Amino acid sequence: MNNIDNDLIFQNTQAQDFNIAGIYKDINSELLEMIKNDLLHPKPLMICGGGTSSQCAAKGHWTLDFRHRFQAIKLDTSNNQVVIEAGVRMENLIEKLSDFNRTFPIGISGVTGLGYILTGGISPLSRKYGLAIDQVLEIHGYWGNGNKFALSKPNSSSSDQEKLKWKVLCGAAPFVAIITHLKLKTYKLKPLGLWESTLSSKQLAETIEMAEKWPNSASLYWIWGNTIKAYGVCEFDGENNHESFTKILNQIPKSKDFNISNAKNLNHLKRLKPQLIGQSLYEKQYSEVLGLLGPSINKKASDVLNVIEEIMNKRPNENSYICAQQLGGATKYSTKELSSFVHKDAIWKPWITGSWKANDIKSKEKSLLWIENSWDSLKDYFPGVHLAQLHPHLNWHQKEINAAFKEWLPKLRQFKSEYDPKGILPPL
Ligand SMILES: Cc1cc2nc3c(=O)[nH]c(=O)nc-3n(C[C@H](O)[C@H](O)[C@H](O)COP(=O)(O)OP(=O)(O)OC[C@H]3O[C@@H](n4cnc5c(N)ncnc54)[C@H](O)[C@@H]3O)c2cc1C
Repeated sequence: MNNIDNDLIFQNTQAQDFNIAGIYKDINSELLEMIKNDLLHPKPLMICGGGTSSQCAAKGHWTLDFRHRFQAIKLDTSNNQVVIEAGVRMENLIEKLSDFNRTFPIGISGVTGLGYILTGGISPLSRKYGLAIDQVLEIHGYWGNGNKFALSKPNSSSSDQEKLKWKVLCGAAPFVAIITHLKLKTYKLKPLGLWESTLSSKQLAETIEMAEKWPNSASLYWIWGNTIKAYGVCEFDGENNHESFTKILNQIPKSKDFNISNAKNLNHLKRLKPQLIGQSLYEKQYSEVLGLLGPSINKKASDVLNVIEEIMNKRPNENSYICAQQLGGATKYSTKELSSFVHKDAIWKPWITGSWKANDIKSKEKSLLWIENSWDSLKDYFPGVHLAQLHPHLNWHQKEINAAFKEWLPKLRQFKSEYDPKGILPPL
């Protein structure tokens, strides 16, 4: 057995502080035997890709931590496809690809691991290239029943069963499988234009309306904490695109701190952090995040922001905040038949981060309730859920699973009952 090993800490503070049973650093024969013979207790087995969510560990549970031994990134320069192992961080992936003038649509922060891709993966470049899950060409791993598999992206001659397996894995893999490595498409690296500005709620509403008309090479994301800060990304693809960026810059409302910069790749985006003042700067915080999905809000942007303003007026502390990022464009057209990310009409993903002082049960309850109430206030505009973070430990788990998979859920459950019959992986 593997003892707890502290040589790599989980980035998520809550996960880091759990008193866990121990860590497996590999899917060795011992672990496989335990899985196949249902000897692993308690279940589920927790999986750590990047260690950024609270569910890469749980009190008393075993974690399979890929960050120790699954770090390989191999680019095949003949076809520009890359194979990555399950412990690779997204920032390391695109840094390595940059050496070959290639890139991949990672998210706003590169600290995330394989969970980013497996749960869909919304990038500031997704409007142009699609979701991270749309870039997957091969998936290798073990089903929850312990059987090994290797699958390639289905084509017209693939069987229905092969298509079904692919659809389940692309967006719902964490419930049915342990993924060891993926083969991915990559793209030619192109320079990025970035802008950022503090905005009023009215200015943000105007910017959202404009963003829905931007070319697919551009996208908006923002954070609402003590202030509202908006960020834009535009990928340059020849002179025309510089023109688009200039047009956007001329159009958007700006404040005194408006700033423009260029970047080599997505690793140079600023991290979305609430600007804190006072005590909360120094207190250790735990948090949970709920991601919502919804269609165009175009002319309704002001109404939505009024709702968010009300929510923010009730927030439990200044470490709790709301952000949003833009989808659409290529994410609309990726094949529904090949992924469990069913919200193809989604144009916006707002997410609600509720924080609390570590180990303060009362403030935890308050923050979790604030998340739930905020969800309720926003659900008419954003009816879907992006299951980027799993919450089997919270009472809204079933509700978020329903909102994430909708009418696809019964088939997904049937699939889980065959491929993870003992519930080795998180419940669905
Ligand atoms: C700073 C920050 C920025 C983010 N920005 C974005 C963004 O721009 N776009 C976006 O879409 N999301 C974003 N996210 C959300 C993030 O992508 C998800 O929370 C994702 O699940 C994190 O994956 P991880 O591997 O880092 O974390 P982990 O906590 O290690 O993994 C999360 C879950 O994924 C599953 N998992 C991980 N690896 C495997 C595997 N090999 N096999 C099976 N299951 C596995 C497990 O169920 C695990 O509990 C962001 C998160 C953070 C913290």
